[in-house]
Amino acid sequence: MSLPDDVRSRLDQVRARIARAAEASGRRGEDVRLVAVSKTFGIDHIRAASEAGQRDFGENRVQEALQKQEALQRMAGSADFLIRWHLVGSLQSNKARRAAEVFSWLHSIDSPELLQRVDRAAVAAGTHLKLLIQVDLAGEATKHGALAAAVPAIFEAARACRAAQVVGLMVLPPWFDDPAGARPYFAQLRQLGDRLRASGTPPGMLQELSMGMSHDFEAAVEEGATIVRLGTAIFGDRRTGT
Ligand SMILES: *Cc1c(COP(=O)(O)O)cnc(C)c1O
Repeated sequence: MSLPDDVRSRLDQVRARIARAAEASGRRGEDVRLVAVSKTFGIDHIRAASEAGQRDFGENRVQEALQKQEALQRMAGSADFLIRWHLVGSLQSNKARRAAEVFSWLHSIDSPELLQRVDRAAVAAGTHLKLLIQVDLAGEATKHGALAAAVPAIFEAARACRAAQVVGLMVLPPWFDDPAGARPYFAQLRQLGDRLRASGTPPGMLQELSMGMSHDFEAAVEEGATIVRLGTAIFGDRRTGT
């Protein structure tokens, strides 16, 4: 199968699986935003997905995303203007400025300081950024994300944002061979959102739950994900180091 046909058919399959999982939780497939995580894949893959109607793309490095954007813009009949770019990987604060220019969504805000830096960068860039607070529910010291106890202070700081808007929560659970292992983390993220809402966080800041990757997204959708981030399921295996 050609690359465009391959990507299109994988996207169709993934969308059908999202729709089934959404229906199981009383929602519709359209209620779940699919972010195609294109990290390590080239712009031929992005174009193929874009031509199949995919609009949201995820990258985990600011520089890699910028290079792809520039390459897409140089092509005739560019798809780039249709694309919304999501940063799904961690963000170093010295890259906040660039990130605000490159991305529409940042999924990895994990401190009040990073939030403020990103908001200032969005003001300077004249952009309107959507932000998700990444939560480290497993307490894994090696992972990025705010511990659950530190999350309310980030939402407090979010009230003062001018150009960036916090719209929800994100989790990247530890790896489990059996996707059932990740399900409790998805449920915990939803419950954390419920608690924050009950204690007065504006509902507009808690509209989104970004959770679920290629091997566990159905469990995530059943637990209430409004955004899933899928790479392998759409583009195939990533080669490490490329
Ligand atoms: C790479 C990545 C994904 C996509 O992973 P797949 O297993 O290929 O679907 C999703 N979220 C984050 C944060 C990632 O880094």
